[in-house]
Amino acid sequence: MEITPQPAAPASLRQRSALRDHLIRNQSMKRVLITGGAGFLGSHLCERFLSEGYAVICMDNLITGSLDNIEHLFGREDFLFMNQDVTEFIHVPGRLDAILHFASPASPIDYLELPIQTLKVGSLGTHKALGLAKAKNARFLLASTSECYGDPLVHPQPESYWGNVNPVGPRGVYDEAKRFAEAMTMAYHRFHDVQTRIIRIFNTYGPRMRLNDGRALPAFMGQAMRGEPITVFGDGSQTRSFCYVDDLVEGIWRLLNSDEPEPTNIGNPAEMTILDFAKKVVELTGSASEIIFKDLPMDDPKVRQPDITKAKSILGWGPTVDLDTGLRRTLDYFRGKVADERDQPAAKAASAVPKG
Ligand code: UDP
Repeated sequence: MEITPQPAAPASLRQRSALRDHLIRNQSMKRVLITGGAGFLGSHLCERFLSEGYAVICMDNLITGSLDNIEHLFGREDFLFMNQDVTEFIHVPGRLDAILHFASPASPIDYLELPIQTLKVGSLGTHKALGLAKAKNARFLLASTSECYGDPLVHPQPESYWGNVNPVGPRGVYDEAKRFAEAMTMAYHRFHDVQTRIIRIFNTYGPRMRLNDGRALPAFMGQAMRGEPITVFGDGSQTRSFCYVDDLVEGIWRLLNSDEPEPTNIGNPAEMTILDFAKKVVELTGSASEIIFKDLPMDDPKVRQPDITKAKSILGWGPTVDLDTGLRRTLDYFRGKVADERDQPAAKAASAVPKG
């Protein structure tokens, strides 16, 4: 007898049944949906929530996230990956206790390359995720950003500062999307009584950043390890304050479990110039790279430092990992990435951001 091959189930059907199975397997557990779960921060959050006893649904469309970041979680009964764009309708059967909305291109070159997706995920994506939170009576946490303060005229930046953002400049696509996302989140809180939280994340670093995402730390690490010149933009006098990822994740966990709906800064107030930061990376890597200066990108903030008085008082949170310790922990990860690039020259091109 001739056997007619059956067509494979369409991805959406497979996804539906995977979601149902995940629900059945983890019936008695709390469940969290993490959008952008295959990204740098999202993947660390997946791990944290699994270790806190949650069943985790990790949603990502992989335009800047990577399966490499979550591969080690595949095969766990309590973990499920959904390849989906959060700007499309989200169907999740069964209980959801929390939604963490972390999907978005987040480095300046990513959002320059993906301006429309950046605007869509911050606006339409936030709306979809909030709608789901309302339907499920789930707690919602928005990943917002220090970019809401733009090129700040108040220093350091407290949450009460409304910011100095150029809406039509190249960074406007990210800054305004996140500002809109904050407004939408507060509207769902005030109008629909959704339990919402807003974290304003300052510069964060650690393993799983993309080597070629264009941010200062991966750029400097990569250049130092390849022996290429370190590209400091402008004269390097602009400042940033860098927070190690584990500290950030602890702040997110505490904020989610608090009852604070207004925006809360989480970041490390240890401020330094970008030139000093470049020198630190050179010293730490033992590189012979020289430092060269390139044009400062438009609207690049001149200063940035979080005022974390609020996080300290309402969450009892403060950073615990200093820059030297955090950079040493990050070094091995970047060494591995640079070695991969050497072994597979195509990897460098492949890790660039797709046009999408
Ligand atoms: N920067 C730099 N060289 C690079 C990449 C970034 O001097 O190769 C500077 C950038 O102009 C900014 C700072 O480093 O002043 C931090 O940039 P990043 O892209 O990490 O994030 P931002 O804080 O601007 O969002």
